[in-house]
Amino acid sequence: MRALATPMRSPSPYRGRLAPSPTGYLHLGHARTFCIAQERAGAGTLILRDEDLDRARCRALFAEAMLEDLRWLGLRWSEGPDVGGPFAPYTQSARRPRYVEAFERLRAGGFLYPCYCSRQRIAQAAASAPHLGEEEPVYPGTCRPPSGAPPSEAPRAGINWRFRLPEREMVAFVDGNAGEQRAVCGADFGDFVAWRKDDFPAYQLAVVVDDAAMEITEVVRGADLITSTFRQLLLYRALGLAPPLFFHCALMLDAKGARLAKRHDSLSLRALRARGVTPEEVRAMMETAARS
Ligand code: GLU
Repeated sequence: MRALATPMRSPSPYRGRLAPSPTGYLHLGHARTFCIAQERAGAGTLILRDEDLDRARCRALFAEAMLEDLRWLGLRWSEGPDVGGPFAPYTQSARRPRYVEAFERLRAGGFLYPCYCSRQRIAQAAASAPHLGEEEPVYPGTCRPPSGAPPSEAPRAGINWRFRLPEREMVAFVDGNAGEQRAVCGADFGDFVAWRKDDFPAYQLAVVVDDAAMEITEVVRGADLITSTFRQLLLYRALGLAPPLFFHCALMLDAKGARLAKRHDSLSLRALRARGVTPEEVRAMMETAARS
């Protein structure tokens, strides 16, 4: 079994990012991750990227609210959709040509294949297959062409395109917060969708293209995305790009021990503000939750 380990980056000026998706109001958990991102950026650069590719769920109203709520909390960024910067645009829906270019490079390199399976069919076929935590089931390989097959020339739109994982390779990286992480391709996770049938990049591809293009040196985000990092490391390698460092923050839980989600409206920054809670009190609430 070959092992893919994260190359160590040489120290370059720190560039971190806040990458919220405007699919709802931000809550305390996001606020905490973003405050940690700001702390880690220190005197380096922090940028804000609007990750609005989920067309069914993203709303302009939430995009405006997220910038406003983060500013209210005291977060500041020196590049972003509202302030511009050398890597503009900072809104993913305006960055499509870059994703298409990455798609074509991956396709030409034999890393992608079209997949015609429905979600239901995959779930049935993989019902008993192992997978990491809340992860999607490991794709059973129904549409995977034999190795060495020429790149598919199918039209890009209208089909899901999966990234072909290397056989049984172990992907490992050392997380700045959570320590050493490992996963085995094809066992812990399967061939994943990199380009969606609505002709938009999947999150995994868009985030890699953008973090590389924006010269991000460390990605700070919630621990729920650790399992995505394995996929992203493979995309970095396939695209010939150097990965950043990773720092995954523990997730905040509600009083019943469930993970905070955008549906926890009472803990949204909006709702807290409306109740007269101050930014200092929000920061104190985050710290209390982190200790409990
Ligand atoms: N936009 C993603 C989210 O809000 C986060 C992506 C990332 O930090 O890599 O869940």
